[in-house]
Amino acid sequence: MTEQTNGVATLYIDGAWVPAADGATRTIHCPADGSTVGVVSEASAADTERAIAAARRAFDAGQWSATPAAQRGDLLLAVADAMKERKDEFARAEALDTGKRLVEAEGDMDDIMGCFRYFGKIADQHPGRLVDTGDPTVISRVVNEPVGVCGMITPWNFPLLQASWKIAPAIAAGDTFILKPAELTPHTAILIMDVLDKLGLPAGVGNLVLGAGATAGAPLSSHPDVDLVSFTGGLVTGRTIAQTAAQTIKKVALELGGKNPNVVFADADFDAAVDNALNAGFLDSGLVCSAGTRLIVQDTIAERFVDELVRRAADIRLGGPFDEAAQTGPLISAAHRNKVTDYVERGVAAGARLRVGGSWGGDELKDGFFYTPTVLDQCDWDNPAVVEEGFGPVITVETFSTEAEAVEIANHTEYGLAGAVWTSDSGTANRVSRALRHGTIWINDYHPYVPQAEWGGFKNSGIGRELGPSGLGEYVEAKHIYENTEPAVSGWFPQQNGE
Ligand code: NAD
Repeated sequence: MTEQTNGVATLYIDGAWVPAADGATRTIHCPADGSTVGVVSEASAADTERAIAAARRAFDAGQWSATPAAQRGDLLLAVADAMKERKDEFARAEALDTGKRLVEAEGDMDDIMGCFRYFGKIADQHPGRLVDTGDPTVISRVVNEPVGVCGMITPWNFPLLQASWKIAPAIAAGDTFILKPAELTPHTAILIMDVLDKLGLPAGVGNLVLGAGATAGAPLSSHPDVDLVSFTGGLVTGRTIAQTAAQTIKKVALELGGKNPNVVFADADFDAAVDNALNAGFLDSGLVCSAGTRLIVQDTIAERFVDELVRRAADIRLGGPFDEAAQTGPLISAAHRNKVTDYVERGVAAGARLRVGGSWGGDELKDGFFYTPTVLDQCDWDNPAVVEEGFGPVITVETFSTEAEAVEIANHTEYGLAGAVWTSDSGTANRVSRALRHGTIWINDYHPYVPQAEWGGFKNSGIGRELGPSGLGEYVEAKHIYENTEPAVSGWFPQQNGE
């Protein structure tokens, strides 16, 4: 069997490609021009329950978690090699599903291979530790054991990248899993399961269900046989998932949204800061959880800085995945574009000034869900466009006069995912980077990350960390084994009858 049945890409459950039990399908369209990308099976809750049962059986059988960790690491390295061979196929699939530029999708694939390689290399590097109890007759050790069956729910903006941050450490740790990608962007998830299948992942260890969150996704947070649910997506969905998961006390990992401050001091390299402010806010049309869409600029340079930002934003060219002149792509759907449109209108109604953007682009873009790069200045910190995530190519501008004020403004948000500080003074950089309550801080840069370093949010941006050693730590349970090598009567409850 392949992943295609009569032209329909199917689910992958218990080592086999299978259609949804009720035969339901969904057609996937490219958001850049509405063209059909493919037809895929649409799972119901019953299909997901089947996948959970398969993952449970595979875990409880015990062979997978008993596989030497180095062997599971080798599998991850082989995944990266196989992806390299098929990089073009992967990148095109991601570009068509998301509408993002092919070159960006190719960059994502490089990052994904890097993630698989990183967890492949550290799979056998966390055996646990010996504890010095001070008692020579005791061996006390803490061992890391797989957490069990993992449900993984991922969003549409970086479909396979977000999935790889979960799949790779789960395989490294010896867990079994069920992946449910966003319903709008399933194709690279299908491809990665095809790679794992061809590399001989044992049946039931990795399972793929495709479909809507409320149906195909919901059992991953509610089912008692799931030990961990790892979710990347919006705050509202994350809350629902955490509340549901509480009923069965499963482990919960949440990577949620952000409202990320990009703080620019007057002593920063002006050209670099303007250029990277564009990159921070408009890369991938702002569809990045860590997008620096909240520009906070020192008042002495604000006017010149924003004028330049607006001038450059007006020049950004929109287009589809294979338009080589395009600099960024569309939003994901009509509903999403309506949300961004409404968000900007509410921001303006609350007093922000629309400096550039705020439109759906020219006639040549009418078949896609485009939204032009937008700058709103003269924003108060309680303007809804500043408070809400927005999740589109919209930069809001606030100003500050002192360092303390900059920090107060940047931390005035319910989120805490990422942020940046631009300054030529290392003291300022160090003080501000430590004072910001966000999970990643860039100094004189925006966006780069490495798989060796943790990623995750403070406050409402999430619970737990992905990537880095902690990213593997999410997928294990620590167990303390205390061995008395010289057992003896303790005498704690002395015998009373004198015998
Ligand atoms: P979303 O919350 O709408 O959906 C995410 C996933 O959850 C999808 O697979 C969806 O089908 C599923 N889902 C929805 N309802 C569900 C339910 N009741 N039970 C189980 N699953 C359910 O998010 P989105 O619109 O796809 O993605 C955009 C959001 O993701 C933004 O808020 C963005 O900031 C966030 N994000 C965060 C990170 C991070 O690393 N922190 C990375 C990427 C995206």
